[in-house]
Amino acid sequence: MPEPIPMLDLKAEYALFEPQLTQSVLSVLQAGQFVLGPQGLALEREVAHYCNVEHGIGVANGTDAIHLVLRALGIGAGDEVIVPAFTFIGTSEPVDYTGATPVFVDVDPHTFNIDPDAAERAITPRTKALIAVHLFGQCADLPRLQALCARKGIALVEDCAQSIGADIAGRRCASWGVAGCFSFYPSKNLGAYGDGGMVVTADARLAEEIRVLRNHGSRARYHHHVIGYNCRLDEMQAAILRVKLAHLDRLNALRREKALEYDRRLAGSSVVTPPEHGQGTHVYHQYTIRSARRDAIKAALEAARIGSMIYYPIPLHRQDVYAARGTPASLPHSERAAEEVLSLPMFPMLTEAQQARVCEVLLRAAEDY
Ligand SMILES: *Cc1c(COP(=O)(O)O)cnc(C)c1O
Repeated sequence: MPEPIPMLDLKAEYALFEPQLTQSVLSVLQAGQFVLGPQGLALEREVAHYCNVEHGIGVANGTDAIHLVLRALGIGAGDEVIVPAFTFIGTSEPVDYTGATPVFVDVDPHTFNIDPDAAERAITPRTKALIAVHLFGQCADLPRLQALCARKGIALVEDCAQSIGADIAGRRCASWGVAGCFSFYPSKNLGAYGDGGMVVTADARLAEEIRVLRNHGSRARYHHHVIGYNCRLDEMQAAILRVKLAHLDRLNALRREKALEYDRRLAGSSVVTPPEHGQGTHVYHQYTIRSARRDAIKAALEAARIGSMIYYPIPLHRQDVYAARGTPASLPHSERAAEEVLSLPMFPMLTEAQQARVCEVLLRAAEDY
């Protein structure tokens, strides 16, 4: 029986950077400063610089990053925020935290990113912001979304949890909206060894407000002018992330190579490989195919001990928590995507032999009527 093939192999990545990672953790232990210190400040500068944006604010996770941006924008009860229906719930939960209402709109059937025309139709006088998700590592149509938000006077917020390093029309994601939000959850392209996140923004006032909110609403220690939160990024994670950030472009390039290899091996079959929109770099957080025989393919991979995941099986407007609020709109592209998508093993150290086996099992199941 051949070795199992995981969805994601974090141990292989650790092995690659082991001496530097161990050293970075030790240096934090020796420095004795664990929350809000030099590692976090340095990472904030480095991630902001990487995105070509002025300010970075480290936070506890990606969900908090979005929440603090919405709070700092003054969004609250009575407001509406436009969110794509086909994404992780971490995109929409922060809207609910503020008391505002997420308004779900459909996605483009090819890229699975928010459809700008559907977004425009969903705008009402209550709409305060639109959250663009760069799903699976490919930028949403940021030039159009930016123009739409400017014309309508609403804030564009970027959920870049899956897309660090991706660009469109020559500009990195996170630099198009009023703010870009990153998650450093271990499985993301830039992953910590625990939770982590960051907001980047060109707006100095917004950056300052988010800095205050993440640290108990205090500008000066023990002086509080607003009720804030405890959602800071710790020094250990920041030190680890700095080591990995230095190699991020190379790791993303490896993901792109693996994606091309899948494309080649699956070409001409009945499964639809992920299309690139051709306006920028896809960083393949996930390699997601679609097929009417998705469930049979998944079962065959499982039987061969090959990992695969359905991101996402239920679109947000059909989730119990949201559907209970009233009759959910019909969003056919999101609903069909949920029935047909399957993400295959994808990580920088994936080998060609592993990919050959994935595709062999997959193609047999896909064509076997
Ligand atoms: C991971 C993720 C989040 C949430 O990030 P956390 O760090 O887990 O809070 C939000 N949106 C998307 C699209 C994600 O993939």
